[in-house]
Amino acid sequence: MKEYEALIIGGGPAGITAALYLLRAGVKMGWVEKLAPGGQVLLTEAIDNYPGFPDGVKGYELIDKFTDHLAPFDFDKIRDEALRIETGSELHKVILSEQEVLTKTLIICSGAQWRKLGVPGERKYMGRGVSYCAVCDGNFFRGQEIACIGGGDTALEESLYLSKLVSKIYLIHRRDKFRGTKFYQDKVLQNPKIQVIYDTVATSFTGNEHLTGVNLKNVQTEQESLLEVDGAFIFIGLDPAGGFFPSAIETDSQGFITTDAEMMTSVPGIYAAGDIRSKHCRQVSTAVGDGATAAYNAWAYLEQHS
Ligand code: NAP
Repeated sequence: MKEYEALIIGGGPAGITAALYLLRAGVKMGWVEKLAPGGQVLLTEAIDNYPGFPDGVKGYELIDKFTDHLAPFDFDKIRDEALRIETGSELHKVILSEQEVLTKTLIICSGAQWRKLGVPGERKYMGRGVSYCAVCDGNFFRGQEIACIGGGDTALEESLYLSKLVSKIYLIHRRDKFRGTKFYQDKVLQNPKIQVIYDTVATSFTGNEHLTGVNLKNVQTEQESLLEVDGAFIFIGLDPAGGFFPSAIETDSQGFITTDAEMMTSVPGIYAAGDIRSKHCRQVSTAVGDGATAAYNAWAYLEQHS
């Protein structure tokens, strides 16, 4: 069975950065990624808030640049899926679908996925009017009319953020009461740019090359209508890409891994970085910071335990 000083699970910005820092420190490292490196970023049309790219950069171009940085190094790239982790006092065993490996330290960077509505047109207009991230895409809708969907803190907070950029927001919620906190509710209800549409669901997205509208249905009256908008932001929660780590690795109530400031989980020698970590701001820049911090501390842990 192969044995590593450090194993990274996940190939998004957090995993790539962690790999770079570990390789530069001379750590014997393996990197597990089930698809190509990139993670959620590959689904992002343009990133215009990553420092160094004042004109924005396409998600895949940024990931190409990130992975180019790893090119000079020799390490095990394991194209496989992590199924289970068995924690140990000195070595942790990671069970992949095709092999098992041992590692002294582990950095979990498996990411998260925006929860999807699963209605017609959603996939087609993703990146062409349908978005899941206000900070990433809000700028593309400056001065335009948009819909926001959801009723939790994310929907309320992101609608407030977007209200500073767009001309009008229709906030669509499936019930007649928000789930989000009163603090944000009050701010949303007082905001003249935000019109709340309660008891309503989006049934499909429509348009040509780009989104032009959202078909709505009032769940009380069953009445259907078309809302013409330039963009639609879906904020109905985020799902962790987890399920393979044991309960010894503590999570928050949503299943995201809790860490200390050094990215250490509740299990010594196991770190988490990027979107899988319990935190509020999920961005490429914060994932990169998490990855560097986790790798530095995994290296320090190895130094102390060698
Ligand atoms: P959330 O609290 O789970 O809320 C999801 C919202 O989307 C709910 O209003 C839910 O409606 C709605 N929803 C879910 N599935 C839907 C569907 N298929 N169709 C239509 N609507 C649907 O998720 P979140 O807002 O992303 O927040 C996640 C966690 O992060 C929460 O604990 C939240 O408090 C926290 N958070 C905190 C802050 C902050 O404190 N600054 C900011 C953002 C997030 P129902 O209400 O009817 O279930």
